[in-house]
Amino acid sequence: MKKILSMMSKSELEDFCISLNESKFRANQLRKWIFEKFALSFDEMTDLSKNFREKLKKNAEIIQTKIKQKQISIDSTVKYLLEFEDGNLVETVLMRFDNRENLTACVSSQIGCKMGCAFCATAKRGFVRNLSAYEIAQQVLVIQQDLKVKVTNVVFMGQGEPLLNLENILKAISIFNEDFKIGKRRITVSTCGVVPGIENLAKLDFQCTLAVSLHAVSNDLRNKLMPINKKYPIEVLIDSLQNFVQKTSKRVTIEYVLLGGVNDSVEDAKNLFLLIKNLKCNINLIPYNPCENDQFSRPKSIDIQKFKYILEQSSKKVTLRLERGKDIDAACGQLSGKFNKKISPC
Ligand code: SAH
Repeated sequence: MKKILSMMSKSELEDFCISLNESKFRANQLRKWIFEKFALSFDEMTDLSKNFREKLKKNAEIIQTKIKQKQISIDSTVKYLLEFEDGNLVETVLMRFDNRENLTACVSSQIGCKMGCAFCATAKRGFVRNLSAYEIAQQVLVIQQDLKVKVTNVVFMGQGEPLLNLENILKAISIFNEDFKIGKRRITVSTCGVVPGIENLAKLDFQCTLAVSLHAVSNDLRNKLMPINKKYPIEVLIDSLQNFVQKTSKRVTIEYVLLGGVNDSVEDAKNLFLLIKNLKCNINLIPYNPCENDQFSRPKSIDIQKFKYILEQSSKKVTLRLERGKDIDAACGQLSGKFNKKISPC
């Protein structure tokens, strides 16, 4: 069996070099080629001896994850359908913003999702399994290798609920941080409100950004939109966020999907204003992106503006999420794994 170099820690890679009768310092060179120079083949690694490269070709591969499909949006968002070793497929998106230098990878933390949010395409596909830390990290590596660019930001906003795969996302974050040199402040984890996970992150003094999908201000509506609310209702969620802010001294992000005629009234905006008045947070409004078999619709532009205006009176930072890659179904909530043949709910 060939070893997968991008799935090894630094010390594992050193041991591997030693097992091939090479100095352990070769591991540093290899890591540079993999994470900083985005090499696709051992032949590109010209500062390694030919003999070492031949041994590598026989015994190792750089990466295992394969690009099954790649789509480029008119706004230059790129969506990848990736295939893992067991044949399961997952989607990863790279977003570029014209006015910024950021290259943001939106990674998946699970294949499918079990949270069942009513407005989300991923939910419709059911849950298959958690991704390992390396499978999460390889999503960014694939992008870097394919486009020969350095990813600067990572958001855990692809398929899946990251806080139900906490151990692996924490390990992936340290890989992003140590190997890919992506600062923790440039990493955002988005949750639908898994309170025990938020409590764990608070205990760990989590230094990445925590974003929470709130999407409703009454338990009645939130129960209908997001089944997780029946387990952890709004007041419990807000308490856990207050505790998180206190423990980490970090501001959280409140995400609010605007669903036309459902949660986007002036009344809703005022209630949201009151609910998070005392929470140290930024607000991110996300106009609903349509997905297949739709029961929801996009909010009217005038309603979005009114909603935003009311929240701005809170003196919190309010942003409207730019819609990226809608023409290739790469926008928030549109990652359905449409092509995933291997989905078998468990
Ligand atoms: N499970 C995590 C991350 C997944 S999605 C979470 O729930 O936060 C990232 C964001 O996109 C979430 O806020 C999610 O609620 C939102 N989203 C899901 N479907 C959407 C849709 N159709 N239109 C707009 N945003 C959507």
